[in-house]
Amino acid sequence: MTPIQIGNITVSRIVELEGPNSPRFTASLFPDLNDDVLAPHLEWLAPRFIDSASGQLVMSIHAFVVRTRHHTIVVDTCIGNDKNRNVSYWNQRHGPFLDDLKKAGVQPEAVDYVLCTHLHVDHVGWNTRLEEGRWVPTFPNAKYLFARDEWNYWQHKSGDGSGDMIDDSVRPIIDAGLAELVEGEHAIDDDATIIPTPGHTPGHVSLRLSSNGSEGVITGDMIHHPFQFALPEITSAFCVDPDLARATRQAFLDRYAERDVTILGTHFPAPTAGRIVGHGDAWRFEG
Ligand SMILES: [Zn+2]
Repeated sequence: MTPIQIGNITVSRIVELEGPNSPRFTASLFPDLNDDVLAPHLEWLAPRFIDSASGQLVMSIHAFVVRTRHHTIVVDTCIGNDKNRNVSYWNQRHGPFLDDLKKAGVQPEAVDYVLCTHLHVDHVGWNTRLEEGRWVPTFPNAKYLFARDEWNYWQHKSGDGSGDMIDDSVRPIIDAGLAELVEGEHAIDDDATIIPTPGHTPGHVSLRLSSNGSEGVITGDMIHHPFQFALPEITSAFCVDPDLARATRQAFLDRYAERDVTILGTHFPAPTAGRIVGHGDAWRFEG
């Protein structure tokens, strides 16, 4: 995408995977979703967020590169290459993510911070890369920011049903001394502040950006897909605390709807950035 400007901050999207879900994936992600529930909202969801041909949700796995006046911050690091995963199209990938990052003008050595909104498999992969049989930090000069509550939840696990992402993509960062565990609201610098948005996972966070009177928020998986602006009660099957996830999403809507704030969705396909606007008695996403 063309970089998004929020005051003096630029945000670029580095896409690893994007397209319509398989029906099986949608059903496993949102068991409560069906065509009848979506029908009233199709007029604004299709074709960009719901594929008109298949009727499937269109989603994306991407990293955001945030450049503030002071720092280069990579937010979420996708699936990664060479990892053993139990989902076929995530397993043993050999994708061009690092080349795409360089094309966007970002050398891994120049990244100051990596923020993982949470430690699920699609948000930690490029934390590390395989070098001579070992997992080494992809961003050797960065501080990797994890919420302390999130690490507390995962630290005695090797991963989850999708693979051992803690062992291959998080623990090597801790062992290398590059992790910084943060708590509550945490300002990275004048322009970027980590804010707690728990529920999807216990220590889930989002990133608030503000510069020169402009404001933006990177959601993480507090919201997975734009349809949830209209249907915030529908939550993913992978939420650790579904009720808290719903409450956090509703509070986010209450705070940011009808405001001139750029919402950047961590799994939203293009256009990934937009605003939350009123639509009858619900909300919709206007990209
Ligand atoms: Zn995710």
